[in-house]
Amino acid sequence: MTRGTVLVTGGAGYIGSHAVLALQQVGFEVVILDNLVYGHADLVKSALKVELVQGDTNDRALLDSLFTSRSFDAVMHFAAYAYVGESVSDPAKYYRNNVVGTLTLLEAMVAAGIQSFVFSSTCATYGVPQQVPIPEEHPQSPINPYGMSKLMVEQMLNDFDHAYGLRSVRFRYFNAAGAEPQGRLGEDHQPETHLIPLVLQTALGHRDSISVFGTDYETPDGTCIRDYIHVTDLAQAHVQGLEYLLRGGKTEVFNLGNGQGYSVREVIDAAQAVTGREIKVVEAERRPGDPAMLVGSSEKARRTLGWQPQYPELAVILQHAWQWHLQRHSVNEH
Ligand code: UDP
Repeated sequence: MTRGTVLVTGGAGYIGSHAVLALQQVGFEVVILDNLVYGHADLVKSALKVELVQGDTNDRALLDSLFTSRSFDAVMHFAAYAYVGESVSDPAKYYRNNVVGTLTLLEAMVAAGIQSFVFSSTCATYGVPQQVPIPEEHPQSPINPYGMSKLMVEQMLNDFDHAYGLRSVRFRYFNAAGAEPQGRLGEDHQPETHLIPLVLQTALGHRDSISVFGTDYETPDGTCIRDYIHVTDLAQAHVQGLEYLLRGGKTEVFNLGNGQGYSVREVIDAAQAVTGREIKVVEAERRPGDPAMLVGSSEKARRTLGWQPQYPELAVILQHAWQWHLQRHSVNEH
């Protein structure tokens, strides 16, 4: 028996695909909506085996026909552009897709009477932290259009709850990392900008070296500190957030991180240990907009949802990511 039907936008992407798997594993029926600009149809087919509707959250007619074709209990919304640098050079693209697209989706949900919404937000909504670990009540002052686009949606969600009774759980992620432990799913961004996949691509010999962006931060080794959270633990939190809403829980926001920071150098050293390969490092300039340290407190998610990360160790996160990279690499070569 199904526990309900969930539309997962962006379900062919990195975090979304892991959430789809987690939903399936506990008995939810899933339909994916993904425009496949960055998502991977091959992974949906091989690992998830769910219906994939190719389309955009900006397409109201498509949403209306989807919502009348069957009954959905909730929507999980991952579809978004997420390149911080690009959001600075092309903000219109980010506001149109991340804000207007989400508004269109929310309006279609209200029209269809769907009242539960799980939303991917980000620690980028906090901007430069005034304290770490960052609690949910920390002021939100994003320093780039990507973070701003997510904050605007958070704001819309408060208003939609008040006016239309649409309840939501917003998750502010810290650094999503790792891959599905059995190697079925993982991270495959093109272009890739994130530290861990770039380090592993260097270990694979696809890149000559990894650039360390800034070695003069006020941190113990001079490089930036981040809170890496396993993507499977993120996915699990989404399932628990959905269950909370379906039980009648009120609109809430939760940080999702391990509460433990690692520097760029520590990540590279740990990756050398996990892969057993030498990783050439080049010291580079700071990347604009990078705070020295981002570490979150996820006590609220633990307390309210009973969420408990299963894979908090950096070495395990890297191991799973490495296994995925090795396998994806060999698939792509044949
Ligand atoms: N970073 C780096 N070299 C790279 C990519 C990232 O030194 O090639 C650093 C980046 O400056 C940040 C950390 O690694 O301090 C994590 O960056 P990532 O892009 O993975 O995630 P973000 O924290 O920006 O969401």
